[in-house]
Amino acid sequence: MTDPHQLLKSVFGFDHFRGVQEEVVGRVLAGQHTLAVMPTGAGKSLCYQLPALAREGTALVVSPLIALMHDQIRSADALGIRAASLTSADDRQAVTARALNGELDLLYVAPERATTDYFRRLIERTPLSLIAIDEAHCVSEWGHDFRPDYRQLKSLLDDHAKVPRLALTATADRRTRADILQQLGLPGDGLIVAGFDRPNIRYVIRPREQTGKQLKDLLRDRPGPAIVYTPSRDKAERTAEALTATGRPALAYHAGLASEVRARNQAAFVASEEMAMAATVAFGMGIDKPDVRTVAHVAIPKSIESYYQETGRAGRDGEPAEAWLFWSASDFALARQRLEEECPPERRESERERLNALAALVETPGCRRAVLLRHFGEDPPASCGNCDNCLEPPAQLDATEVARKL
Ligand code: ADP
Ligand code: MG
Repeated sequence: MTDPHQLLKSVFGFDHFRGVQEEVVGRVLAGQHTLAVMPTGAGKSLCYQLPALAREGTALVVSPLIALMHDQIRSADALGIRAASLTSADDRQAVTARALNGELDLLYVAPERATTDYFRRLIERTPLSLIAIDEAHCVSEWGHDFRPDYRQLKSLLDDHAKVPRLALTATADRRTRADILQQLGLPGDGLIVAGFDRPNIRYVIRPREQTGKQLKDLLRDRPGPAIVYTPSRDKAERTAEALTATGRPALAYHAGLASEVRARNQAAFVASEEMAMAATVAFGMGIDKPDVRTVAHVAIPKSIESYYQETGRAGRDGEPAEAWLFWSASDFALARQRLEEECPPERRESERERLNALAALVETPGCRRAVLLRHFGEDPPASCGNCDNCLEPPAQLDATEVARKL
């Protein structure tokens, strides 16, 4: 087995492991089952890519989205890691032959395909180095993105009981973590949680008054790359137009645009140092732009997890960044109504809790970061010094307001 530090340098070009990476990699190399909860951008991919190179055999990587798999394969190719996926878009025979000949370090597969007879027979004949389950919160009904296909993975894992399992997720509260451990047959002491704090992000949450004006004022003073999350496709387009009219380069991104338009807009945003992207939640996953300075929500996101994930796209370079949320009581009323009407009954309670957690975040007179981090099971200090409430305590605001009126 090659030395992990040597691989880190020679293959990935990094001098040091980051955060809990070393611990996670160490467990996988020692053959232990693990659940790693690491925030977006923490470097989860390396946690299975490196052991895949260090151990004999092929690493199986379960991943929910074809687009994500193909991004991962491109970056693996660039590093000289032999990777392929088995999706409807791939040449099944060619990939099968490579797997059987031991020519793959990584084999990506979607959960619904991983449990087919074809795939099971294939991996019976392919020595496996490890099984990684990316976006592992999808296995839990408590998670924010339950995917029933993930439930079928357990029997596949049990067929390969000796192969180390590595479940990875960026967002799982305590209950979801416990559920993932159970659903995937992982030991309680196999849980590794990285710090969730993003100290360079300043959180600011304001009641929405005039969205258009508030947003324009905000972005006028903040010229760096920005993402504006809007609640609908239509609003994304109108916001892009309105910002363009102020002289700010702006484009829209949502699932209703043709794929070549989406690709073009995304590429323009990634290359720009001043563009605002007005987008629905369709934008963001798998986009590696480290210098986003501002993320603004013009209405509440779907949950506190979504808020964390979407605001987390700001300041990946560690430089100061801001996350603004403009909310209204009507956002919550609408979200509650949707939940009661559209959410399957068995998931309603957990979705209500998620929404309540978000309400607690917007309504708190205390530290935003503390509310956010506590939700993810951390025990932060009562005050962070870098959110609106810590910088300008609301009680003090009221006092000055009263003073002014007097
Ligand atoms: P995640 O899946 O946790 O969101 P990724 O695996 O996509 O994160 O990694 C995010 C970025 O961090 C990538 O650009 C990756 O190359 C970089 N990265 C990962 N590990 C390290 C490290 N040890 N040192 C420096 N950069 C790293
Ligand atoms: Mg990832």
